[in-house]
Amino acid sequence: MLTDYHLHLQPDGAAARAEHAVDWDALGGYLSEGWIRRYADSARARGVHEIAVTEHVHRFAEARDWHSNPWWREEATEDIDAYCDALVSAREAGIPVLVGIEMDWLPDRRDEIAAFLDGRPFDIVLGSVHWLADGAVDHPDYLAWETVDSEQVWSRYFDELVAAAESGLYDVLAHIDLPKVLGHVPSDSARARWPEVVARIAASGVAIECSSAGLRKPAAELYPNPDLLAMCAAAGIAVTLASDAHRPADIAAGYPTAVAALRGVGYDHLTRFAGRRRSLTPIADWA
Ligand SMILES: [Zn+2]
Ligand SMILES: [Zn+2]
Repeated sequence: MLTDYHLHLQPDGAAARAEHAVDWDALGGYLSEGWIRRYADSARARGVHEIAVTEHVHRFAEARDWHSNPWWREEATEDIDAYCDALVSAREAGIPVLVGIEMDWLPDRRDEIAAFLDGRPFDIVLGSVHWLADGAVDHPDYLAWETVDSEQVWSRYFDELVAAAESGLYDVLAHIDLPKVLGHVPSDSARARWPEVVARIAASGVAIECSSAGLRKPAAELYPNPDLLAMCAAAGIAVTLASDAHRPADIAAGYPTAVAALRGVGYDHLTRFAGRRRSLTPIADWA
């Protein structure tokens, strides 16, 4: 089987959503069964038979006060329970979709994150480090790189990634070397931390994703980098497969490269989730 376990139903930012709203409005809205089915159909056409929709937590009004950043607060307009209900209904209608969320790791919001996840019907919770206090590693308007020395960005990023892994809040760590997204190649000292970071992720028991999204960004390579992926495989860390698509056209983008990389470092199974419980499925060949 092939899966795509990191998908967004809309692009980031109000302007991009307004530009594309005609696509989902024609089907009854972005939470309509028709729009969710569009994702599943696009996946199936590419040989992918199970998807997880994992919207950013910053889209939901319940998380608005977790961060002082103005963009975060402007984005927080949606109702988390309406979102979960729509995905549960789609799943019950036979669409092979998991109820997921991309949950930022914000170290001073540990209790709020736990309360948000508790009692909601998630199949899979992705843990993402996008923010180092007020600076983002990937948001072009609020870049940590402009206020913090680049060595510090990498070292603080890995500190937070490990803290997220060890928090016990997450099923899968997303894009584990995200700071490279805009082309900031990891320094020798950043790479020197990889063995320690991998060992601590492995000890935490959390999975990682192999994401093709980096191929579509200035980084121009998978998350994680193939050397880092090899270290994860050697450490026995479970893996999911993901595109981080924000529109149906990008589902499973770059999968030939991702599947080859997984096989090349010795992975022969993907991790599946249901109700936050794991199982394994052999990696299908790219059709
Ligand atoms: Zn992300
Ligand atoms: Zn994402």
